[in-house]
Amino acid sequence: MRVAVFSSKPYDRRYFEEYNQVYNYDLSFFDTNLNTQTSNLTQGFDVVCVFVNDHLNEEVIEALADNGVKLIALRCAGFNNVDLKAAEKYQIKVTRVPAYSPQAVAEHALALILTLNRKTHKAYNRVKEGNFSLDKLIGFNVYNKTVGVIGTGKIGQAFCEIMLGLGCKVLAYDIAPQSSLKDRGVSYVTLEELYKNSDIISLHCPLLEATQHLINNESINQMKTQVMIINTSRGGLIKTEDVIKNLKDKKVGYLGIDVYEQEENLFFEDKSEQIIEDDTLLRLISFPNVLITSHQAFLTSEALTEISKTVFQNIHDFENQTSLMNEVKAQ
Ligand code: NAD
Repeated sequence: MRVAVFSSKPYDRRYFEEYNQVYNYDLSFFDTNLNTQTSNLTQGFDVVCVFVNDHLNEEVIEALADNGVKLIALRCAGFNNVDLKAAEKYQIKVTRVPAYSPQAVAEHALALILTLNRKTHKAYNRVKEGNFSLDKLIGFNVYNKTVGVIGTGKIGQAFCEIMLGLGCKVLAYDIAPQSSLKDRGVSYVTLEELYKNSDIISLHCPLLEATQHLINNESINQMKTQVMIINTSRGGLIKTEDVIKNLKDKKVGYLGIDVYEQEENLFFEDKSEQIIEDDTLLRLISFPNVLITSHQAFLTSEALTEISKTVFQNIHDFENQTSLMNEVKAQ
């Protein structure tokens, strides 16, 4: 099997090459994203392995089919960047890695909460410069606070467990509630109740038509003043211009995001020597109460090991025409 790995970084290469010793596939690593401009690179490959910011619309998928690609092996859980109907039309199978380490993402959400709250990033820099003042570093106890969790799948559940462990009251909203979480003391409520009562709101639902721009002026209006909003799921869940307005109005007290709506051409890349064109992102960066990481919530060695293992298993299943356990299909 000839496999083209797009958007590949040194850590992808390291973990893939290590795991490929079991399978011995012919791997080619491309730094570039897969999109309309780069789809010609797929000539002669059986499989393309892609990540969150590869953009597989119908035009790209048609090109993949013309070039002989038969499998799109996502190395992430979300699949909002693949036109599944087009894949079906061109008879290309799509697989994903449904769960590589829910704890990795849930723990990163916690890292954003604690950093924003206790300002450890600011304290670190101050102390490095010999400034031992505590001025403007006041935080709040997370203990006893009410945390609203939207989406209680694998990551949302892991996050609920962490927050329960910290002594928080956990409210949740999901279209398919989990009875095991109710037994653990999580209360499922309506979105309105969750917005009204939560001190911290963390998003763990997928980006779908129904969830796009879930966080907007209307939903923020229903939230507590000084609410903390955390997004480690997908950028499109938040309407960025609305959240900026509410940060300026001091309605939103803290914003921690690992994902951003227009992250595609920025995140994962070193742009430190370039002029960043995205004024919206620059406005977000300018707030003292906004913390942005560039889609790193998944980045633990456990998760990278599990991703490699599952991607190769998916390709192996496809090659051997056994049932594709991790196939995703158009609804
Ligand atoms: P999952 O499929 O296990 O859980 C998603 C949950 O969302 C399900 O319980 C589902 O019922 C619920 N849901 C669906 N539609 C909803 C709606 N309209 N309102 C509320 N809930 C709804 O997925 P997961 O593994 O927990 O991952 C969640 C998301 O995290 C993924 O979709 C992905 O976008 C994101 N993610 C981000 C990173 C990262 O590095 N930042 C890594 C992995 C996953």
